[in-house]
Amino acid sequence: MAEMIKENLNRIICDIKNIAKNAGRNENDVKLLAVSKFHPVEEIIEASDAGQILFGENRVQEACEKFQKLNEENIKFSLHMIGSLQTNKVRNIVKYAECIQSVDRLELLKEIEKQCAKIDRKINILFEIHTGEESKAGFQSEEDLDQTLRYCVDNNAPHVIPRGFMTMAPFTKNESLIRKSFITLRELRDKFQAKYKQFDLSELSMGMSGDYKIAIEEGSTMVRIGTAIFGERVYKKDI
Ligand SMILES: *Cc1c(COP(=O)(O)O)cnc(C)c1O
Repeated sequence: MAEMIKENLNRIICDIKNIAKNAGRNENDVKLLAVSKFHPVEEIIEASDAGQILFGENRVQEACEKFQKLNEENIKFSLHMIGSLQTNKVRNIVKYAECIQSVDRLELLKEIEKQCAKIDRKINILFEIHTGEESKAGFQSEEDLDQTLRYCVDNNAPHVIPRGFMTMAPFTKNESLIRKSFITLRELRDKFQAKYKQFDLSELSMGMSGDYKIAIEEGSTMVRIGTAIFGERVYKKDI
């Protein structure tokens, strides 16, 4: 198992570099977030032993339980929350996460600010954008997104640092639909970066096990990969 995870990581890192180079980009411009949801702590430690630091989780309770253990073992990690987040769970996740990629409403951003202020901690955030995926996750209106960014400008949220955008492409074999989704994210980022020059919105979190090549070609700076590293997930009701 340990060997498999390590081999998968090495293969994917190599693949990411090659895809970036072939797309005319710098081979170090794309980070790999290892999505460890539904996989046990032991496998996260195996990935960590292979040099992986960035991890993604999508459920607060599971993430807190697993990464508290890693903390206790003094394992170095950077945890990114990538799943839809209820406001009443924010208090727990801000203790462990370095970035919340799934900010999709102003109300959530306000709660993140409130909880981070309490523990005097700053946190990176990405704005999740709905670009075509079947679920309802992500901002659907530019107006709502604009309102949320404007809120940050007025220094209402000094503990929240906007870093960029995240999206999930639709689950389809249709490559042009997937590509369109990633292009939408990049163009939206360019538009909002031009408007909000006080922020560095350079992060584009897009691409998963099945579509990361297209995402890198379209400017992804972080791919979120689970299955291709850890294997298929076994979904359980409670972990
Ligand atoms: C599960 C998940 C991933 C990883 O998906 P794989 O297809 O297993 O690589 C990426 N992003 C988000 C938001 C996820 O929930």
